Amino acid sequence: MSAFPLELDRSAIERLGRHTVDFLAGWVSGFGDAPASDYEQTDRLVAELGRPPGDGPGDFGALLETFRQAAEQGVNTAGPGYLAYFPAGGLVTAALAELLAAAANRYTGVAQMAPALVAMEHGVLTWLCARFGLPAGAGGLVTTGGSMATLSALLAARQTHGDGTVYVTEHTHYCVAKAARIIGLPADRIRAVPTTPGLSMDVRAAAAMIVADRAAGLRPFLLVGTAGTTSSGTVDPLPELGALARREGLWFHVDAAYGGGFQLTARGRARLAGIEAADSIVLDPHKSLFLPYGTGVLLVRDPAALHAAHAAGGRYLQDLSPADDLPDYGHLGVELTREFRGLRLWLPLHLHGVGAFERELDEKLDLAANAYAELSRDPRLDLPWEPDLTVILFRLRDAADERNRRLLADVNASRRVFLSSTTIDGRFYLRLCVLSCRTHADRVREAVAIIRTAAAAVPELESPTGSSG
Ligand SMILES: *Cc1c(COP(=O)(O)O)cnc(C)c1O
Repeated sequence: MSAFPLELDRSAIERLGRHTVDFLAGWVSGFGDAPASDYEQTDRLVAELGRPPGDGPGDFGALLETFRQAAEQGVNTAGPGYLAYFPAGGLVTAALAELLAAAANRYTGVAQMAPALVAMEHGVLTWLCARFGLPAGAGGLVTTGGSMATLSALLAARQTHGDGTVYVTEHTHYCVAKAARIIGLPADRIRAVPTTPGLSMDVRAAAAMIVADRAAGLRPFLLVGTAGTTSSGTVDPLPELGALARREGLWFHVDAAYGGGFQLTARGRARLAGIEAADSIVLDPHKSLFLPYGTGVLLVRDPAALHAAHAAGGRYLQDLSPADDLPDYGHLGVELTREFRGLRLWLPLHLHGVGAFERELDEKLDLAANAYAELSRDPRLDLPWEPDLTVILFRLRDAADERNRRLLADVNASRRVFLSSTTIDGRFYLRLCVLSCRTHADRVREAVAIIRTAAAAVPELESPTGSSG
């Protein structure tokens, strides 16, 4: 292909665009057959691909091919066999939205610059607030992910209540501690409340700790509940935590980065009941709404707190005045200039309809319940916790961690599925999470079969005092 000027004319846009769409359609439709992980060409590609750009033009087809080869190395997080961490798949319609938003390149940091686009993003956020039972007037922000949303939530909480101590559990995502560190809270202000045998926050222990801390001169200001912990998918007792926060005058933050999407389903709403009392909620559409990585959401009961924590002014912005009924996102979060991230939510929600998301999430709940039942039936496996949502933990019964590590390696060596692990109470557990829009019953059945076959075949490990050497 010939050289392209930086500003493409219509026919060049057509040529590059068609080429891209043809490439994309062929490639994405093959995700189901691609290996769940692939490191065969990694060393070669890592060595080759760091080279700097040349002065002269490149060939578009060759560049796309290089991208494809690079993207296929490592773990196939977009494929149906990805059952590790939090899969989402990545909706292609959201990727198309991203292309459009970037091509339009309108400025949505301040509403006056693109009021109708800001209204689209605002509409999605207002709808989400309503789905979570937050009152009229609640609002929020689309961020790059849960970590950034959590940082802004902590800033808003401190803006409202002042510095003090934060209550979490050992299963709270570390982004809370990280955000606390960024905003300058000393590490000893993060208080780990004991958990129940079911891995959720022990509310009575939390209440006792808050009272004792206050008596000792500390200033409790923030209680963090999790709606779907990262290790085990456990939902904390949100109604009781909300009541405790109200009684003690604390900001109540709910980390629903993983679990939040399930609020669209009846079962999810039942499990997340109590979330409507939150002062702030974080959810990750790049987890439970199947969006591409880089999409988080913060919802707040009182957007004025978020504004007070983030707003700043500069003479260079003096031409811009706040809109009456639209938010200036640049004053609600860390970023001023930002992508028009709202379209990534708006387009898929309006195109597929909310019902499509609800059905897809209901399917994931069913698939996880089935996988739990199937694995529980295997006498070799121990599954101590029934899943609250779609995360399943298991290990070989009466086996050392080392054998369980071996089991994980053997399962992943199938290259049909890819699982991860976690440690609970000092013990190693394999972890299976059903969440991708590309994972359906066939792949979950296959995963169960692979696990059971591998579990039957894991060799006894030589004991350190073994006599075989
Ligand atoms: C993933 C996750 C986060 C962090 O979100 P990022 O989008 O990765 O920044 C926070 N909390 C929970 C419960 C999570 O699962």
